[in-house]
Amino acid sequence: SSLFPALTEALADPDGTAAHRPALRFGDRSLTYGELAATAAPLAARIGEAGRIAVWATPTLETAVTVVAALLAGVPAVPLNPKSGGSELGHIVADSAPSLVLAAPDDQLPAALASLARVDIDVRATGPAASPAPDARHLADELPALVVYTSGTTGPPKGAVIPRRAVATTLDALADAWRWTGDDVLVHGLPLFHVHGLILGILGPLRRGGSVRHLGRFETAGVTRELSGGATMLFGVPTMYHRIAESLPDDPALAKALAGARLLVSGSAALPVHDHERIARATGRRVIERYGMTETLMNTSVRADGEPRAGTVGVPLPGVELRLTEEDGTTAVEAYDGETVGEIQVRGANLFTEYLNRPDATAAAFTEDGWFRTGDMAVRDPDGYVRIVGRKATDLIKSGGYKIGAGEIENALIEHPGVREAAVTGEPDADLGERIVAWIVPSDPQNPPSTAELADHVADRLAPHKRPRVVHHLDALPRNDMGKIMKRALAHD
Ligand code: ATP
Ligand code: MG
Repeated sequence: SSLFPALTEALADPDGTAAHRPALRFGDRSLTYGELAATAAPLAARIGEAGRIAVWATPTLETAVTVVAALLAGVPAVPLNPKSGGSELGHIVADSAPSLVLAAPDDQLPAALASLARVDIDVRATGPAASPAPDARHLADELPALVVYTSGTTGPPKGAVIPRRAVATTLDALADAWRWTGDDVLVHGLPLFHVHGLILGILGPLRRGGSVRHLGRFETAGVTRELSGGATMLFGVPTMYHRIAESLPDDPALAKALAGARLLVSGSAALPVHDHERIARATGRRVIERYGMTETLMNTSVRADGEPRAGTVGVPLPGVELRLTEEDGTTAVEAYDGETVGEIQVRGANLFTEYLNRPDATAAAFTEDGWFRTGDMAVRDPDGYVRIVGRKATDLIKSGGYKIGAGEIENALIEHPGVREAAVTGEPDADLGERIVAWIVPSDPQNPPSTAELADHVADRLAPHKRPRVVHHLDALPRNDMGKIMKRALAHD
Protein backbone atom coordinates (compact mmCIF):
# COMPACT_ATOMS: atom_id res chain seq x y z
CA SER A 1 0.00 0.00 0.00
CA SER A 2 1.07 3.60 -0.31
CA LEU A 3 3.32 4.66 2.53
CA PHE A 4 2.70 8.36 1.90
CA PRO A 5 -0.93 9.27 1.24
CA ALA A 6 -0.10 12.99 1.00
CA LEU A 7 2.50 12.31 -1.66
CA THR A 8 0.14 10.05 -3.61
CA GLU A 9 -2.41 12.85 -3.48
CA ALA A 10 0.13 15.40 -4.68
CA LEU A 11 1.12 13.09 -7.54
CA ALA A 12 -2.48 12.66 -8.59
CA ASP A 13 -3.32 16.36 -8.35
CA PRO A 14 -0.23 18.56 -8.81
CA ASP A 15 -2.32 21.72 -8.40
CA GLY A 16 -4.28 20.60 -5.35
CA THR A 17 -3.83 21.92 -1.81
CA ALA A 18 -1.86 18.83 -0.70
CA ALA A 19 0.76 19.60 -3.34
CA HIS A 20 1.39 23.05 -1.88
CA ARG A 21 2.00 21.94 1.68
CA PRO A 22 5.60 21.98 2.95
CA ALA A 23 7.30 18.58 3.17
CA LEU A 24 11.07 18.83 3.70
CA ARG A 25 13.46 21.61 4.61
CA PHE A 26 17.22 21.30 4.98
CA GLY A 27 18.90 24.65 5.66
CA ASP A 28 17.70 27.06 3.01
CA ARG A 29 16.50 24.36 0.63
CA SER A 30 12.98 23.03 0.86
CA LEU A 31 10.40 21.04 -1.07
CA THR A 32 6.60 21.06 -0.94
CA TYR A 33 4.76 17.76 -1.41
CA GLY A 34 4.25 18.68 -5.04
CA GLU A 35 7.93 19.41 -5.53
CA LEU A 36 8.90 16.25 -3.67
CA ALA A 37 6.63 14.26 -5.98
CA ALA A 38 8.11 16.00 -9.01
CA THR A 39 11.63 15.16 -7.85
CA ALA A 40 11.16 11.69 -6.44
CA ALA A 41 8.91 10.28 -9.16
CA PRO A 42 11.42 10.56 -12.04
CA LEU A 43 14.13 9.24 -9.77
CA ALA A 44 11.87 6.32 -8.83
CA ALA A 45 11.36 5.60 -12.53
CA ARG A 46 15.12 5.64 -13.02
CA ILE A 47 15.95 3.19 -10.22
CA GLY A 48 12.86 1.07 -10.78
CA GLU A 49 14.80 -1.85 -12.25
CA ALA A 50 17.50 -1.97 -9.58
CA GLY A 51 17.49 -4.91 -7.19
CA ARG A 52 18.64 -2.85 -4.26
CA ILE A 53 20.19 0.61 -4.02
CA ALA A 54 22.74 2.12 -1.68
CA VAL A 55 22.26 5.71 -0.53
CA TRP A 56 25.18 7.90 0.53
CA ALA A 57 23.20 9.09 3.53
CA THR A 58 24.48 12.56 4.33
CA PRO A 59 22.03 14.70 6.35
CA THR A 60 20.67 16.36 3.20
CA LEU A 61 17.61 16.79 1.04
CA GLU A 62 19.23 14.42 -1.46
CA THR A 63 19.14 11.51 0.98
CA ALA A 64 15.53 12.13 1.96
CA VAL A 65 14.39 12.40 -1.67
CA THR A 66 16.27 9.23 -2.66
CA VAL A 67 14.75 7.14 0.09
CA VAL A 68 11.28 8.39 -0.83
CA ALA A 69 11.98 7.57 -4.50
CA ALA A 70 13.12 4.06 -3.58
CA LEU A 71 9.93 3.52 -1.57
CA LEU A 72 7.83 4.77 -4.49
CA ALA A 73 9.65 2.36 -6.78
CA GLY A 74 9.49 -0.58 -4.37
CA VAL A 75 13.29 -0.88 -4.47
CA PRO A 76 14.92 -1.59 -1.09
CA ALA A 77 17.32 1.15 0.00
CA VAL A 78 20.47 0.63 2.05
CA PRO A 79 21.48 3.88 3.78
CA LEU A 80 25.25 4.15 4.20
CA ASN A 81 26.89 6.08 7.02
CA PRO A 82 29.26 8.51 5.27
CA LYS A 83 31.46 8.54 8.35
CA SER A 84 32.00 4.78 8.31
CA GLY A 85 35.52 3.63 7.67
CA GLY A 86 36.42 1.86 4.44
CA SER A 87 36.38 -1.61 5.94
CA GLU A 88 32.89 -1.18 7.41
CA LEU A 89 31.59 0.27 4.13
CA GLY A 90 33.29 -2.53 2.23
CA HIS A 91 31.57 -5.08 4.46
CA ILE A 92 28.16 -3.44 4.05
CA VAL A 93 28.47 -3.15 0.28
CA ALA A 94 29.63 -6.75 -0.10
CA ASP A 95 26.87 -7.92 2.25
CA SER A 96 23.98 -5.96 0.76
CA ALA A 97 25.15 -6.11 -2.90
CA PRO A 98 23.41 -2.98 -4.19
CA SER A 99 23.36 -2.45 -7.95
CA LEU A 100 23.65 1.35 -7.70
CA VAL A 101 24.81 3.98 -5.28
CA LEU A 102 22.95 7.30 -5.17
CA ALA A 103 24.76 10.42 -4.03
CA ALA A 104 24.61 14.18 -4.37
CA PRO A 105 26.55 15.47 -7.41
CA ASP A 106 29.43 16.91 -5.37
CA ASP A 107 29.80 14.02 -2.91
CA GLN A 108 33.23 12.34 -3.05
CA LEU A 109 32.69 8.61 -2.63
CA PRO A 110 35.38 6.45 -1.03
CA ALA A 111 37.22 3.65 -2.80
CA ALA A 112 35.08 1.04 -1.05
CA LEU A 113 32.18 2.13 -3.30
CA ALA A 114 34.19 2.38 -6.51
CA SER A 115 32.77 -0.84 -7.93
CA LEU A 116 29.19 0.47 -7.83
CA ALA A 117 27.48 2.34 -10.65
CA ARG A 118 26.69 5.85 -9.45
CA VAL A 119 23.58 7.94 -9.96
CA ASP A 120 23.67 11.62 -9.07
CA ILE A 121 20.61 12.93 -7.29
CA ASP A 122 19.17 16.11 -8.73
CA VAL A 123 16.74 17.75 -6.34
CA ARG A 124 16.08 20.93 -8.29
CA ALA A 125 12.35 20.60 -8.61
CA THR A 126 11.15 21.63 -12.04
CA GLY A 127 7.39 21.50 -11.79
CA PRO A 128 4.90 18.65 -12.05
CA ALA A 129 6.13 15.07 -12.24
CA ALA A 130 7.96 14.72 -15.54
CA SER A 131 7.45 10.99 -15.85
CA PRO A 132 4.61 8.89 -14.53
CA ALA A 133 5.33 7.71 -10.99
CA PRO A 134 5.30 4.02 -10.32
CA ASP A 135 2.17 3.38 -8.32
CA ALA A 136 3.20 2.44 -4.81
CA ARG A 137 -0.35 1.38 -4.04
CA HIS A 138 0.14 -2.08 -5.51
CA LEU A 139 3.34 -2.79 -3.59
CA ALA A 140 2.99 -5.64 -1.12
CA ASP A 141 3.36 -5.01 2.59
CA GLU A 142 5.91 -7.84 2.85
CA LEU A 143 8.25 -6.18 0.35
CA PRO A 144 11.50 -4.95 1.93
CA ALA A 145 11.49 -1.17 2.27
CA LEU A 146 14.98 -0.75 3.67
CA VAL A 147 18.00 -2.68 4.80
CA VAL A 148 19.30 -0.80 7.83
CA TYR A 149 22.50 -1.83 9.55
CA THR A 150 22.40 -1.95 13.34
CA SER A 151 24.57 0.54 15.19
CA GLY A 152 27.32 -1.98 15.91
CA THR A 153 27.29 -1.26 19.63
CA THR A 154 27.67 -4.89 20.66
CA GLY A 155 29.34 -6.40 17.58
CA PRO A 156 29.73 -5.83 13.84
CA PRO A 157 26.62 -4.17 12.32
CA LYS A 158 23.99 -6.58 10.99
CA GLY A 159 21.73 -5.71 8.05
CA ALA A 160 18.11 -5.77 9.22
CA VAL A 161 15.62 -6.25 6.40
CA ILE A 162 12.68 -3.98 7.21
CA PRO A 163 9.43 -4.63 5.34
CA ARG A 164 7.06 -1.86 4.26
CA ARG A 165 4.52 -3.21 6.72
CA ALA A 166 6.83 -2.55 9.67
CA VAL A 167 7.44 1.05 8.59
CA ALA A 168 3.73 1.76 8.24
CA THR A 169 2.85 -0.05 11.46
CA THR A 170 5.41 1.69 13.64
CA LEU A 171 4.67 5.15 12.27
CA ASP A 172 0.94 4.67 12.73
CA ALA A 173 1.45 3.40 16.29
CA LEU A 174 3.49 6.52 17.10
CA ALA A 175 0.88 8.73 15.43
CA ASP A 176 -1.73 7.12 17.62
CA ALA A 177 0.31 7.45 20.82
CA TRP A 178 1.68 10.92 20.17
CA ARG A 179 -1.36 12.30 18.29
CA TRP A 180 1.03 13.02 15.48
CA THR A 181 -0.81 14.82 12.66
CA GLY A 182 -0.20 16.64 9.40
CA ASP A 183 -0.03 19.90 11.34
CA ASP A 184 3.09 18.82 13.21
CA VAL A 185 6.44 20.22 12.18
CA LEU A 186 9.45 18.25 13.35
CA VAL A 187 12.85 19.67 14.28
CA HIS A 188 15.45 17.09 13.31
CA GLY A 189 19.18 17.05 13.98
CA LEU A 190 20.01 13.36 13.63
CA PRO A 191 21.91 11.42 10.98
CA LEU A 192 19.85 9.69 8.29
CA PHE A 193 21.31 6.18 8.18
CA HIS A 194 19.57 4.72 11.24
CA VAL A 195 15.98 4.02 12.10
CA HIS A 196 15.62 7.01 14.42
CA GLY A 197 16.75 9.70 12.00
CA LEU A 198 15.44 8.14 8.80
CA ILE A 199 12.26 6.21 9.55
CA LEU A 200 10.98 8.30 12.46
CA GLY A 201 12.53 11.60 11.47
CA ILE A 202 11.90 11.71 7.71
CA LEU A 203 9.36 9.04 6.80
CA GLY A 204 7.30 9.79 9.93
CA PRO A 205 6.37 13.37 9.06
CA LEU A 206 5.84 12.41 5.40
CA ARG A 207 3.46 9.57 6.29
CA ARG A 208 1.42 12.01 8.35
CA GLY A 209 1.43 14.71 5.67
CA GLY A 210 3.38 17.01 8.00
CA SER A 211 6.83 18.43 7.55
CA VAL A 212 10.38 18.22 8.81
CA ARG A 213 13.06 20.86 9.22
CA HIS A 214 16.52 19.36 9.42
CA LEU A 215 19.24 21.32 11.18
CA GLY A 216 22.07 19.70 9.23
CA ARG A 217 24.11 19.60 12.39
CA PHE A 218 22.47 19.66 15.79
CA GLU A 219 22.94 22.91 17.68
CA THR A 220 20.80 24.41 20.42
CA ALA A 221 20.44 27.71 18.51
CA GLY A 222 18.72 25.83 15.68
CA VAL A 223 16.35 24.19 18.14
CA THR A 224 15.44 27.59 19.58
CA ARG A 225 14.97 29.11 16.13
CA GLU A 226 12.74 26.32 14.79
CA LEU A 227 10.64 25.75 17.90
CA SER A 228 9.97 29.47 18.23
CA GLY A 229 9.28 29.62 14.48
CA GLY A 230 6.37 27.22 14.31
CA ALA A 231 7.90 23.76 14.76
CA THR A 232 5.99 21.55 17.21
CA MET A 233 8.16 18.50 17.95
CA LEU A 234 11.79 17.71 18.68
CA PHE A 235 13.31 14.24 18.28
CA GLY A 236 16.77 13.76 19.74
CA VAL A 237 19.24 11.37 21.29
CA PRO A 238 20.48 11.70 24.90
CA THR A 239 23.67 13.55 23.94
CA MET A 240 21.48 16.32 22.45
CA TYR A 241 19.25 16.58 25.49
CA HIS A 242 22.37 16.58 27.64
CA ARG A 243 23.67 19.58 25.72
CA ILE A 244 20.29 21.24 26.05
CA ALA A 245 20.28 20.58 29.80
CA GLU A 246 23.74 22.12 30.09
CA SER A 247 22.74 25.21 28.08
CA LEU A 248 19.39 25.92 29.70
CA PRO A 249 20.60 27.88 32.75
CA ASP A 250 22.19 30.49 30.46
CA ASP A 251 19.73 30.39 27.59
CA PRO A 252 16.23 31.65 28.46
CA ALA A 253 15.23 31.72 24.79
CA LEU A 254 15.92 27.97 24.53
CA ALA A 255 13.91 27.34 27.71
CA LYS A 256 10.99 29.33 26.31
CA ALA A 257 11.14 27.55 22.94
CA LEU A 258 11.15 24.10 24.58
CA ALA A 259 8.31 25.11 26.89
CA GLY A 260 6.21 25.88 23.82
CA ALA A 261 6.87 22.59 22.01
CA ARG A 262 4.09 20.03 21.79
CA LEU A 263 6.40 17.04 22.13
CA LEU A 264 10.02 16.49 23.15
CA VAL A 265 11.12 12.93 22.45
CA SER A 266 14.36 11.13 23.28
CA GLY A 267 15.50 7.69 22.22
CA SER A 268 18.31 5.41 20.95
CA ALA A 269 19.87 5.20 24.43
CA ALA A 270 18.82 5.97 27.99
CA LEU A 271 18.48 9.65 28.90
CA PRO A 272 20.00 10.06 32.37
CA VAL A 273 17.44 10.95 35.05
CA HIS A 274 19.60 13.95 35.96
CA ASP A 275 19.10 15.45 32.48
CA HIS A 276 15.36 14.71 32.57
CA GLU A 277 15.14 16.61 35.85
CA ARG A 278 17.20 19.59 34.75
CA ILE A 279 15.11 20.02 31.59
CA ALA A 280 11.83 19.68 33.51
CA ARG A 281 12.97 22.25 36.06
CA ALA A 282 14.04 24.82 33.47
CA THR A 283 11.18 24.41 30.99
CA GLY A 284 8.27 22.91 32.90
CA ARG A 285 8.21 20.23 30.18
CA ARG A 286 9.00 16.55 30.42
CA VAL A 287 10.89 14.67 27.76
CA ILE A 288 9.12 11.53 26.54
CA GLU A 289 11.34 8.50 26.01
CA ARG A 290 10.76 5.90 23.38
CA TYR A 291 12.46 2.56 23.13
CA GLY A 292 13.13 0.81 19.90
CA MET A 293 15.75 -0.83 17.79
CA THR A 294 16.67 -1.43 14.17
CA GLU A 295 15.09 -4.89 14.21
CA THR A 296 11.79 -3.95 15.83
CA LEU A 297 11.38 -0.26 15.04
CA MET A 298 9.47 1.23 17.97
CA ASN A 299 8.37 -0.83 20.95
CA THR A 300 7.38 1.52 23.76
CA SER A 301 6.68 5.14 24.56
CA VAL A 302 4.30 7.37 26.47
CA ARG A 303 1.04 8.75 25.08
CA ALA A 304 0.93 12.48 24.39
CA ASP A 305 -1.68 12.78 27.15
CA GLY A 306 0.13 10.27 29.39
CA GLU A 307 2.59 10.81 32.17
CA PRO A 308 6.25 10.59 31.14
CA ARG A 309 8.36 9.15 33.93
CA ALA A 310 12.11 9.71 34.07
CA GLY A 311 14.04 6.45 34.09
CA THR A 312 11.35 4.57 32.16
CA VAL A 313 10.62 4.14 28.46
CA GLY A 314 6.85 4.12 28.91
CA VAL A 315 4.49 1.33 27.91
CA PRO A 316 4.15 -0.91 24.83
CA LEU A 317 2.87 0.96 21.78
CA PRO A 318 -0.49 -0.01 20.26
CA GLY A 319 -0.06 -3.32 18.42
CA VAL A 320 3.22 -4.27 20.11
CA GLU A 321 3.23 -7.36 22.32
CA LEU A 322 5.98 -7.15 24.93
CA ARG A 323 7.02 -9.62 27.59
CA LEU A 324 9.93 -10.20 29.94
CA THR A 325 11.49 -13.65 30.13
CA GLU A 326 13.58 -15.55 32.61
CA GLU A 327 17.13 -16.65 31.90
CA ASP A 328 15.95 -19.65 29.83
CA GLY A 329 14.64 -17.11 27.32
CA THR A 330 11.19 -18.68 27.08
CA THR A 331 9.50 -18.59 30.50
CA ALA A 332 7.56 -15.36 30.89
CA VAL A 333 8.13 -13.21 33.97
CA GLU A 334 4.68 -12.41 35.30
CA ALA A 335 5.75 -9.87 37.92
CA TYR A 336 4.98 -6.17 37.68
CA ASP A 337 6.98 -5.31 40.77
CA GLY A 338 9.64 -2.91 39.57
CA GLU A 339 12.24 -5.46 40.63
CA THR A 340 12.22 -8.72 38.72
CA VAL A 341 14.62 -8.41 35.82
CA GLY A 342 13.91 -10.20 32.55
CA GLU A 343 14.88 -9.99 28.90
CA ILE A 344 12.52 -7.92 26.78
CA GLN A 345 10.94 -9.88 23.94
CA VAL A 346 8.55 -8.40 21.42
CA ARG A 347 6.12 -9.55 18.77
CA GLY A 348 4.11 -7.56 16.28
CA ALA A 349 3.85 -6.18 12.77
CA ASN A 350 6.63 -3.70 13.61
CA LEU A 351 9.33 -6.39 13.35
CA PHE A 352 12.02 -6.89 10.72
CA THR A 353 11.99 -10.07 8.64
CA GLU A 354 15.61 -11.22 8.81
CA TYR A 355 19.27 -10.30 9.10
CA LEU A 356 20.61 -10.19 5.57
CA ASN A 357 22.76 -13.25 4.76
CA ARG A 358 22.68 -14.35 8.41
CA PRO A 359 20.15 -17.19 8.66
CA ASP A 360 21.77 -18.46 11.86
CA ALA A 361 21.66 -15.08 13.57
CA THR A 362 18.06 -14.65 12.41
CA ALA A 363 17.03 -18.05 13.76
CA ALA A 364 18.80 -17.40 17.06
CA ALA A 365 17.03 -14.06 17.45
CA PHE A 366 13.54 -15.55 17.57
CA THR A 367 11.89 -18.00 19.97
CA GLU A 368 9.88 -20.90 18.60
CA ASP A 369 6.67 -18.94 18.90
CA GLY A 370 7.95 -15.88 17.12
CA TRP A 371 9.10 -13.61 19.93
CA PHE A 372 12.12 -11.48 19.06
CA ARG A 373 14.83 -11.54 21.72
CA THR A 374 15.92 -7.93 22.09
CA GLY A 375 18.93 -8.61 24.32
CA ASP A 376 17.73 -5.73 26.51
CA MET A 377 16.98 -6.37 30.18
CA ALA A 378 14.20 -4.59 32.04
CA VAL A 379 11.78 -4.55 34.93
CA ARG A 380 8.11 -3.51 34.86
CA ASP A 381 6.52 -1.16 37.34
CA PRO A 382 3.11 -2.06 38.80
CA ASP A 383 1.39 0.21 36.26
CA GLY A 384 3.17 -1.37 33.29
CA TYR A 385 5.94 1.20 32.72
CA VAL A 386 9.08 -0.48 31.42
CA ARG A 387 12.42 0.38 33.01
CA ILE A 388 15.40 -0.70 30.95
CA VAL A 389 18.17 -2.06 33.11
CA GLY A 390 20.61 -2.38 30.24
CA ARG A 391 21.84 -4.78 27.62
CA LYS A 392 22.24 -8.42 28.57
CA ALA A 393 25.68 -8.49 26.91
CA THR A 394 27.28 -5.47 28.54
CA ASP A 395 25.08 -3.87 31.18
CA LEU A 396 24.13 -6.69 33.49
CA ILE A 397 26.77 -7.20 36.13
CA LYS A 398 26.71 -10.37 38.22
CA SER A 399 28.48 -9.45 41.40
CA GLY A 400 28.39 -11.13 44.82
CA GLY A 401 25.29 -13.12 43.89
CA TYR A 402 23.39 -10.05 42.73
CA LYS A 403 22.35 -9.07 39.22
CA ILE A 404 23.05 -5.37 38.96
CA GLY A 405 22.10 -3.06 36.09
CA ALA A 406 24.75 -0.61 34.96
CA GLY A 407 22.14 2.09 34.22
CA GLU A 408 21.05 2.90 37.76
CA ILE A 409 24.66 3.16 38.88
CA GLU A 410 25.40 5.48 35.95
CA ASN A 411 22.39 7.61 36.91
CA ALA A 412 23.61 7.83 40.50
CA LEU A 413 27.17 8.70 39.50
CA ILE A 414 26.03 11.52 37.21
CA GLU A 415 24.23 13.12 40.13
CA HIS A 416 27.59 13.67 41.81
CA PRO A 417 28.74 17.23 41.06
CA GLY A 418 32.25 16.03 40.26
CA VAL A 419 31.00 13.71 37.48
CA ARG A 420 30.09 14.98 34.03
CA GLU A 421 29.51 11.62 32.35
CA ALA A 422 29.65 8.03 33.53
CA ALA A 423 29.61 4.50 32.18
CA VAL A 424 29.64 1.35 34.27
CA THR A 425 30.93 -2.09 33.32
CA GLY A 426 31.76 -5.35 35.06
CA GLU A 427 35.11 -7.09 35.06
CA PRO A 428 36.10 -10.51 36.37
CA ASP A 429 36.80 -10.66 40.11
CA ALA A 430 38.02 -13.69 42.05
CA ASP A 431 35.73 -13.04 45.05
CA LEU A 432 32.68 -11.38 43.57
CA GLY A 433 32.43 -13.09 40.18
CA GLU A 434 32.40 -9.63 38.64
CA ARG A 435 33.30 -6.29 40.17
CA ILE A 436 31.70 -2.97 39.29
CA VAL A 437 33.94 -0.61 37.35
CA ALA A 438 33.05 3.05 36.76
CA TRP A 439 34.44 5.09 33.87
CA ILE A 440 33.89 8.75 34.52
CA VAL A 441 34.53 12.04 32.80
CA PRO A 442 35.23 14.37 35.75
CA SER A 443 33.65 17.84 35.74
CA ASP A 444 37.04 19.22 36.71
CA PRO A 445 39.88 17.06 35.39
CA GLN A 446 42.31 18.74 37.80
CA ASN A 447 40.26 17.72 40.78
CA PRO A 448 38.37 14.46 40.15
CA PRO A 449 36.34 12.88 42.95
CA SER A 450 38.08 9.98 44.70
CA THR A 451 37.05 6.35 44.31
CA ALA A 452 36.02 6.21 47.98
CA GLU A 453 33.86 9.30 47.63
CA LEU A 454 32.06 7.91 44.57
CA ALA A 455 31.65 4.50 46.20
CA ASP A 456 29.98 6.14 49.22
CA HIS A 457 27.85 8.33 46.98
CA VAL A 458 26.47 5.26 45.16
CA ALA A 459 26.16 3.11 48.30
CA ASP A 460 24.10 5.86 50.01
CA ARG A 461 21.72 6.22 47.08
CA LEU A 462 21.32 2.64 45.91
CA ALA A 463 22.78 -0.13 48.07
CA PRO A 464 26.26 -1.00 49.32
CA HIS A 465 26.70 -3.88 46.87
CA LYS A 466 26.13 -1.47 43.95
CA ARG A 467 29.15 0.69 44.75
CA PRO A 468 31.93 0.79 42.15
CA ARG A 469 35.18 -0.86 43.25
CA VAL A 470 37.35 0.68 40.55
CA VAL A 471 37.04 4.15 38.99
CA HIS A 472 38.80 5.17 35.75
CA HIS A 473 39.03 8.75 34.55
CA LEU A 474 38.60 9.61 30.86
CA ASP A 475 38.53 12.82 28.80
CA ALA A 476 35.45 11.59 26.96
CA LEU A 477 33.42 8.40 26.75
CA PRO A 478 33.76 6.44 23.50
CA ARG A 479 30.50 7.04 21.65
CA ASN A 480 29.22 6.14 18.20
CA ASP A 481 27.52 8.60 15.87
CA MET A 482 24.18 8.25 17.67
CA GLY A 483 25.85 9.08 20.96
CA LYS A 484 25.64 5.50 22.24
CA ILE A 485 28.39 4.55 24.64
CA MET A 486 30.59 1.84 23.09
CA LYS A 487 31.19 -0.33 26.13
CA ARG A 488 33.16 -2.79 24.03
CA ALA A 489 35.84 -0.12 23.67
CA LEU A 490 35.88 0.53 27.43
CA ALA A 491 36.19 -3.06 28.49
CA HIS A 492 39.18 -3.61 26.21
CA ASP A 493 41.11 -0.51 27.21
P1 ATP B 1 24.11 -3.60 17.65
O1 ATP B 1 22.80 -4.33 17.62
O2 ATP B 1 24.78 -3.62 16.33
O3 ATP B 1 24.98 -3.97 18.78
P2 ATP B 1 22.57 -1.34 18.64
O4 ATP B 1 21.78 -2.37 19.37
O5 ATP B 1 23.06 -0.17 19.43
O6 ATP B 1 23.80 -2.02 17.89
P3 ATP B 1 20.32 -0.10 17.39
O7 ATP B 1 19.36 -1.04 16.80
O8 ATP B 1 20.54 1.20 16.71
O9 ATP B 1 21.73 -0.80 17.43
O10 ATP B 1 19.96 0.24 18.88
C1 ATP B 1 18.96 -0.43 19.61
C2 ATP B 1 19.31 -0.49 21.07
O11 ATP B 1 19.41 0.83 21.64
C3 ATP B 1 18.29 -1.19 21.92
O12 ATP B 1 18.42 -2.59 21.86
C4 ATP B 1 18.57 -0.62 23.31
O13 ATP B 1 19.64 -1.32 23.93
C5 ATP B 1 19.03 0.80 23.01
N1 ATP B 1 17.94 1.79 23.25
C6 ATP B 1 17.12 2.37 22.35
N2 ATP B 1 16.29 3.25 22.94
C7 ATP B 1 16.58 3.23 24.26
C8 ATP B 1 16.08 3.93 25.42
N3 ATP B 1 15.11 4.85 25.34
N4 ATP B 1 16.65 3.63 26.62
C9 ATP B 1 17.63 2.72 26.73
N5 ATP B 1 18.14 2.04 25.68
C10 ATP B 1 17.63 2.29 24.46
MG1 MG C 1 21.18 -4.29 18.83
